[in-house]
Amino acid sequence: MLNVIICGAPGCGKGTQSDLIVNKYQLKHLSTGDLLRKEMADKTELGQIAEGYISKGQLVPDQMIIDILAKNIEAFGNDINGIILDGFPRTVAQAEALESMMAKNNKTINVLVDLSVEKDELIDRLIKRGQTSGRSDDNLETITKRLEVYQTQTAPVSDFYRNLNKYAAIDGMGTIDEIFGRISAVLDSNL
Ligand code: AMP
Repeated sequence: MLNVIICGAPGCGKGTQSDLIVNKYQLKHLSTGDLLRKEMADKTELGQIAEGYISKGQLVPDQMIIDILAKNIEAFGNDINGIILDGFPRTVAQAEALESMMAKNNKTINVLVDLSVEKDELIDRLIKRGQTSGRSDDNLETITKRLEVYQTQTAPVSDFYRNLNKYAAIDGMGTIDEIFGRISAVLDSNL
């Protein structure tokens, strides 16, 4: 089984790269951002609570997202090639919860792929995406907040996996194919 975390600042291209990884390695994809946006579109109670955080560029509470993730991972069952987690874990508390969830199911995370992209490029990509995505959080004020939240709350997750020797830094600048080539090399070495 190949269980991968893809992470990086908002706008680093993790959604695009996740799609390519899913296709090549036949993994199940879980994007916590997508799951929350679906809850919002369906106007569920959870979606309404999440919207308050998302529109301000803040993270939703750890326990809420851990519960959503656990439910979705269980639904995949055991007969799969692996999972790619996109946008989770975003805090050290989430990483700890994920590790115990995996251990309980006799599974393990193989590697965290960290896509690094320069800040000006991130802002540029997110502003452009905002023109077509319709996402309430792709505006300059919220983008600035999301980048700040990333630095303070999510960047420490990299150290968590570095300490477990499961960390791979990937240069996220360049063409989609170039970046995918770099990621594939790391994933192939984990097969
Ligand atoms: P994303 O699509 O991954 O950029 O996520 C969009 C927004 O959803 C984030 O800015 C957060 O408000 C929320 N979100 C997504 N994943 C998480 C998570 N693992 N923990 C907390 N909040 C999250």
